[in-house]
Amino acid sequence: MPEARLQISGLDAHYGDFQALYGLDMAVSDGEVIAIIGANGAGKTTLMRSISGLLKNRADAIRFRGEPIGALRADQVAARGIALVPEGRQLFPSLSVEENLLIGGQVGRAGPWSLSSVYDLFPILKERRQQASTSLSGGQQQMVAIGRALMANPELILFDEISLGLAPVVIRQIYEAMPGIVGEGMTAMIVEQDIAQALKVSSRVYCLQEGRISLEAATGDVTHDQITKAYFGMDA
Ligand code: ATP
Repeated sequence: MPEARLQISGLDAHYGDFQALYGLDMAVSDGEVIAIIGANGAGKTTLMRSISGLLKNRADAIRFRGEPIGALRADQVAARGIALVPEGRQLFPSLSVEENLLIGGQVGRAGPWSLSSVYDLFPILKERRQQASTSLSGGQQQMVAIGRALMANPELILFDEISLGLAPVVIRQIYEAMPGIVGEGMTAMIVEQDIAQALKVSSRVYCLQEGRISLEAATGDVTHDQITKAYFGMDA
């Protein structure tokens, strides 16, 4: 069997004495869209930070295209083709929309994403391209954060809580863009608090509970009871 695009084996994470992840094993194949769900503090952001090189690990705890990347720096991971849309967006406040997008492109990878394809995906960003990113609404800032990640032409894109704090209508707008993002065979992992939304866009789901995987299932097969149990650690 060919090795998965992303293979996670025995991934631990620590903040000082506190252990946030315990021996996670995961495999993500080419073109899959994986949802990561779990209660506050379950370790979802820590997982995203680990994959994207913001938290270091054993080199072979994370393999991408068969190569160990667990000990690489974030810029090295980005150059291999993994982009993170971070929780809280983390735009450069003093820069314009377009400057923020161009920073994403500095990774220098070739591919379908450019300023013009990002503007096609989110036309409002073209209208606002000269404005300071902080003058945009929360939803528009999230579009900039997604566009910045796409500008790196990643093979794997990690979305960390992209709907957090946004109005339902804006969330719908952002998720409507999802097929245009993952449609070309891009592999994606989506951390999402809204379980229904997470299941709608993904083919497989992992639930984390206190730093461990409490459920792995095909989205089409999973039951409400299984999710409740995996999420809260109790029977519904
Ligand atoms: P949320 O939905 O609240 O973002 P999460 O599932 O993303 O939750 P993490 O942010 O990964 O969870 O946090 C996992 C655990 O690690 C939590 O108990 C959290 O308190 C702890 N933690 C996260 N960041 C730090 C840090 N910088 N220092 C110490 N502990 C941390």
